Amino acid sequence: MRLRPTLFGLCLILTACGSVPTTPATQHSSAGSQSSQIAKQKTWVAPIDRADERVTKKPFGIFITPQNSPVQPEKFKGYHTGTDFELLPGETPHAVTVRAACAGKLIYKQTVSGYGGVAIQRCTLNGSPVTVLYGHLSLTSVDTPLNQDLKPDDRIGVLGTGFSSETDGERPHLHFAIHHGAQVELKGYVQTKEELDGWVDAETVLGLSL
Ligand SMILES: [Zn+2]
Repeated sequence: MRLRPTLFGLCLILTACGSVPTTPATQHSSAGSQSSQIAKQKTWVAPIDRADERVTKKPFGIFITPQNSPVQPEKFKGYHTGTDFELLPGETPHAVTVRAACAGKLIYKQTVSGYGGVAIQRCTLNGSPVTVLYGHLSLTSVDTPLNQDLKPDDRIGVLGTGFSSETDGERPHLHFAIHHGAQVELKGYVQTKEELDGWVDAETVLGLSL
């Protein structure tokens, strides 16, 4: 007679003990938070709306000469180190927002020959430092102070007006380039394929379908 309550009690204890580590809900939510962390780590985003539609003239790595260039007249020659995002019909440059493509500090903003307004951000790609160049901007629109952190999608500024000092006389567009290493690199074209290896194909990084 005394055995039954003891077994019953033991059974209760075992059931209670058994239920403690069996926490499918907790395991589920922890797996969920892990996958959302992985999603958050996917930190690269396109620097401009409708990015896929805009790469119509100079993609990454194209070899440009004044004769073959899709842009006429052309003053540059060499391998294009960035991706050019063009203005879409009906847009005005100052109405086109350029946003941070990655997480990192703004390390440079200046007027540069060949570009007009340039902003450069230092980010990380696959665990290594890179610099990210945004060229042909309206420099006065870049109001983030130097050395301030930017998150992906934070506003960098707006495109510069075409054929003005904001674009150094070029058509309105965004030149977007990713260079290996932490140091500022401004070249928009290089003369050898070996030199081009210093840059990363931004279209691949951003997953654009052109
Ligand atoms: Zn370009």
